[in-house]
Amino acid sequence: MRTHTALHVLCGTIFRDYGAHVTGGDMQPLKGRLDFEFETMRGELVREIETVINQEVAQAREIRVKILPREEALQIPDLIRTKINLLPEGIMLVRTVEIVGLDLQADGGTHVHNTSEVGKIRVADYKSKGAINKRIYVEIE
Ligand SMILES: [Zn+2]
Repeated sequence: MRTHTALHVLCGTIFRDYGAHVTGGDMQPLKGRLDFEFETMRGELVREIETVINQEVAQAREIRVKILPREEALQIPDLIRTKINLLPEGIMLVRTVEIVGLDLQADGGTHVHNTSEVGKIRVADYKSKGAINKRIYVEIE
């Protein structure tokens, strides 16, 4: 749950600060990665991102889960943050996960209740996965 929440913080921060969408990801206990549509990714930028995500964690932002009717959920801009935007027809209720003030996504996962529970996030590595895809690896201490 800490790792999952950390990935939300990363995704929410990068979307807010750089407008970059997530194109993929993977999660294991206490580590994970996300791919973003980013043209250039340099060490300097990665360190800046690491600083900002830890500031967001330290803000002790509350995490709220809601179940919304499909129509209401679809009116929220950017709710479905991944590049491939799929909400199958027939899904009438959408579960949303909000990191108050930072991130709001359609999501079925489990999370901590407050970002302060995440702990320190370390950006362990980054890699280019093509012209516009850049991968960021994080570890939770
Ligand atoms: Zn989630």
